[in-house]
Amino acid sequence: MYIQEQYSKDLLFIEKIDKLVARKVEFLAYFFPIAACLGAHTLYFILFTAADVPIMSVFNIFSMTFYAAMIFIFKRVTDKVNIVYAAVAEIIAHATTATACVGWIPDFGMLLLMIIPIVFLMPNKNKKIPVITMVVSLLIYAALRIIYRDSDHTIYNIEHTSYAMIFFVINMVIGSCVLVYVTTIYNIMNRYTECKLRVQNEQLRIMASTDPLTKLSNRREISRRLAEISEASHQTGSNYVVGIGDIDFFKKINDTYGHDYGDIVLTKVAEVISSSLPDNGCAARWGGEEFLFVIPDSDLNEGIRYADSMVSAVSREIFSSDGKDFSVTMTIGICEASPDDTVDNVITCADGRLYKGKRNGKNHTEYTD
Ligand code: GH3
Ligand code: MG
Ligand code: MG
Repeated sequence: MYIQEQYSKDLLFIEKIDKLVARKVEFLAYFFPIAACLGAHTLYFILFTAADVPIMSVFNIFSMTFYAAMIFIFKRVTDKVNIVYAAVAEIIAHATTATACVGWIPDFGMLLLMIIPIVFLMPNKNKKIPVITMVVSLLIYAALRIIYRDSDHTIYNIEHTSYAMIFFVINMVIGSCVLVYVTTIYNIMNRYTECKLRVQNEQLRIMASTDPLTKLSNRREISRRLAEISEASHQTGSNYVVGIGDIDFFKKINDTYGHDYGDIVLTKVAEVISSSLPDNGCAARWGGEEFLFVIPDSDLNEGIRYADSMVSAVSREIFSSDGKDFSVTMTIGICEASPDDTVDNVITCADGRLYKGKRNGKNHTEYTD
């Protein structure tokens, strides 16, 4: 059962993410990673230049220009996923060239594996793209692994310099940060979708079970509740009480003060009824100006006490329209149900007593046939 506490938590979470999403989703999911790539390539440029690997210095100038251009055209790209595809292509080219230049030890090859989960987690319109990326990436990874297993075939040999280790550590840190970042965003979005679904379901359930005017349960919901209470009564052997209340002379209220004011009266009476019930009781709008309430684990005497308090609370309520004050009264028929009674029989009994009450002068609780 979806509890109120979880519902409130979900609503808060959705509100928080909605605020974030409205302003920042593109920034967080696309702009920030591209800016981070620009930062990473600036760092690579400095290190490759210091390590005296000119091919990679030139490549990184290209990469920096590429990411700067991406940032520049960012707003104009309608489908931001294309920017990520371009970045993935750049990463593959960069990792391949870097491995060819400085060998396997600095582990640029690792980045070829890191991009695979990223392309699979992305909102791909074309489902072939992640598969193609994976195949290309793995083939290049395998080829580089075979060709550059030892440093003999590399263009530059930095194996015995401290740069090999510096690059290795930087690549490891960058690779894991990227994975953590992407999976975190993906997790948050998943949680968000789940929450939204739960909240929408709950809103639908509330809409389908509530009377829009009085905010009490509607007839369908109270019927479901009655079935539950009757079932529980079977199990525990305890009795319960059902009451049906009908506002007296309500047609006259509508005729005198108008239908809209009649609605205000109905809403107020509904409030009085629900606040007069014990915590385990529930009330519903049963029909036009008829209300049904049920008190589980109860008996006729207790039911009469609650019904009497409703009748007098309704009559104490003062309404005013067009400068005129008036009050309304309500008649209630109540019936005690034992575990063997069917819900239909109990309702028929309470209904019969209500109409007996109407014939016997209204404005009271009727509890005999
Ligand atoms: P009694 O004392 O015998 O109950 O007399 P009554 O005038 O209340 O008679 P009845 O129960 O037959 O009248 C119900 C009236 O309630 C008729 C209908 O126009 C009005 N009504 C039903 N639903 C609504 C509603 O949603 N809003 C308003 N304003 N009136 C409603
Ligand atoms: Mg009436
Ligand atoms: Mg009626």
